[in-house]
Amino acid sequence: MPHYRLKSIQEQSTSAKSAPSIDVPGIVRDVVADIRQNGDAAVRKYSEKFDKWSPTSFKLSEKEIQEAIAALPQQTLDDIKAVQANVRKFAEAQLASIKDFELEIEPGVFLGQKNLPIDAVGCYIPGGRYALLASAHMTILTAKVAGVRHVVAATPPINGKIPNATVAAMYYAGADDIFILGGVQAVAAMAVGTETIAKTHFLAGPGNAFVAEAKRQLFGEVGIDLFAGPTEVLVVADEHADPYMCAVDLLSQCEHGPDTPAQLITNSESVAKQTIKYCDELLKVLPTGAVASVSWSTLGEVIVTDTIEEAYAVADEYASEHVEILTKTPRDALKKMSNYGALFLGANTCVSYGDKCIGTNHVLPTRKAARYTGGLWVGKYLRTTTYQEVTNNEASGKLGRLCGRSARAELFEGHARSGDLRAANNLNDKYYW
Ligand code: NAD
Repeated sequence: MPHYRLKSIQEQSTSAKSAPSIDVPGIVRDVVADIRQNGDAAVRKYSEKFDKWSPTSFKLSEKEIQEAIAALPQQTLDDIKAVQANVRKFAEAQLASIKDFELEIEPGVFLGQKNLPIDAVGCYIPGGRYALLASAHMTILTAKVAGVRHVVAATPPINGKIPNATVAAMYYAGADDIFILGGVQAVAAMAVGTETIAKTHFLAGPGNAFVAEAKRQLFGEVGIDLFAGPTEVLVVADEHADPYMCAVDLLSQCEHGPDTPAQLITNSESVAKQTIKYCDELLKVLPTGAVASVSWSTLGEVIVTDTIEEAYAVADEYASEHVEILTKTPRDALKKMSNYGALFLGANTCVSYGDKCIGTNHVLPTRKAARYTGGLWVGKYLRTTTYQEVTNNEASGKLGRLCGRSARAELFEGHARSGDLRAANNLNDKYYW
């Protein structure tokens, strides 16, 4: 596919250089093992170590929650409720699309599907760098719409303080227990349980490399939503795109952290060159430019293709978390692309809408996980179970014969005899034990 890079990732990027010096899996393994063995005492040890946070209780009382809410401007509370209304509407529509059903595949043979909510879920709301209160709507509220009975939610302190707006969002979203606790210690405690933190069956929520690695290591013992690690952005633009808008929207994601991959893929060399120019200019004045410029300078790429068709094809190979389409006919992307966490179509939409307020879920697959999963949604909190019943004697007998033959083909004699027994009861076949 003919294309060239106007701007490439730096092979010796900051994150690539620093990666060997921080043994993330090793740190996570030690913390998880310690919390498994020593419960609350270990949770406190790591909260002190990583967050300098050691309150009397990590769990907020109703009084502390109400104090956090009272400390917020009314506009903030109204905005949280408005965003949660959007998230709820979309999640409820998704829930309505999931059907229980029963099928009579032949007379007297019934097969059914039933979707059951997970009983207890742990939601992690990131907060190391920013108070990501939107993650509370996305994880907790969606779990509650799915019907999860008990939601334990945790978020780190920010600069040694309770993040009031995040607490309000957690509370309004319906969290049953709210903990001010961050990183691996929160994730591990919700997975294995401690004296004061209820064990849950499923972990949801995005987070930094430590949080993502903790979820990976605990997967199996508990379920997880997906690998929602450091955020990613990719913009597909044609010659009609506004390069200033391309730059603004790329940098809007780069500010998440120093490890945000950001790509512009365009068939217009002029759009590509101007976007690079605007990025350089905007980074000088963006208040979060110090962080964003690390990502853009090391992990930012600008690729020029011959045609917009090729731009879509290259974009699809990236399987990026967020894909923004700034072309004359943005809905083409729905046909041309299949690997993405979420698509943002046209100049009137932007990734930030998805991150903060529009109502679709912002917990999305990163590191090419979009090739095999979509983002968080109500369905992730449901277990699709099946049941079966045979009420017709003859049908049961015939299935018994089929079962006997099928099981013996696999040398499963015990299975075969369960079938034989039904064939004997219903069709008078000989039965040997
Ligand atoms: P975070 O809450 O994920 O992590 C903060 C915690 O990390 C701290 O409380 C601390 O306990 C722990 N920590 C920090 N340094 C450590 C160390 N050296 N050893 C052990 N533990 C350590 O918050 P964050 O760091 O701001 O990261 C949030 C992340 O979430 C960002 O990378 C952002 O891009 C990502 N995100 C992803 C999605 C998605 O859907 N993929 C959505 C939103 C946010």
